[in-house]
Amino acid sequence: MRHLIVANWKCNPVSSKEAQRLFDAVAEGIKNINNVETVICPPFLYLSDLKSGASSVKLGGQDCFWEDKGAFTGEISAKQLQNLGVEYVILGHSERRKYLDESIEAVNKKIKAALSTKLKVIFCIGSQTKELGEEMESQLEKGLQGLDKSDVADLIFVYEPVWAISTTKDKVTATPKETLAGSLFIRKILERLFDERTSQTARIIYGGSVDSQNIEGFVREGGVSGGLVGAASLDPDEFVRIVKKVALNVKS
Ligand code: PEP
Repeated sequence: MRHLIVANWKCNPVSSKEAQRLFDAVAEGIKNINNVETVICPPFLYLSDLKSGASSVKLGGQDCFWEDKGAFTGEISAKQLQNLGVEYVILGHSERRKYLDESIEAVNKKIKAALSTKLKVIFCIGSQTKELGEEMESQLEKGLQGLDKSDVADLIFVYEPVWAISTTKDKVTATPKETLAGSLFIRKILERLFDERTSQTARIIYGGSVDSQNIEGFVREGGVSGGLVGAASLDPDEFVRIVKKVALNVKS
């Protein structure tokens, strides 16, 4: 399974000049790495400029709307992202639930729209507490409602425990053992919703305070094939170190 590191810049940085500098530093730092897929998800307004620089770094949106076009003020559609040459989109991020009350029903519509326009979906799943249960199960059931097992190949699941995200008050960093338990839980639900093969071949990465010190543990012992990186992705040297650590742990 191809390893994947995704940078989620969230609402950063504040200028296109800084965005370009950050992007160029990452592209330069990882230019010789061929065995790790690297995706940067900047704010929408920088996508167009960053797209024009040829690079091995792929681009993703941090959200998308489910209709292709129309009177939906402020929205950016999956189709618009696809037309720009964007390949990935993050959907269901916990910060959109927390600050914007995004429902899982809305996420489900977005996932369907993204998949129908051939975007690869980075679908975040995670609970507020350490309990692996109903909260994550419901996210998966409702988020994937109406999808076929063949759709799962274009999904990347992120085990994103909210309690481990760097900006969560009193956050505690997940251990590889906890990550393994989370990823196995996701596979168990996928097996129930689809079948064993779909569950076993699903791509799962981990998100929550990933840095260059802990990424190796997650990839080696956490049952995941990469990471979603928030805060640490805003430091290009640190982000490049994370990608390189994963590259060292992957057989080419
Ligand atoms: C996230 O918000 O999903 C995330 C992974 O952020 P951070 O790396 O800052 O914890």
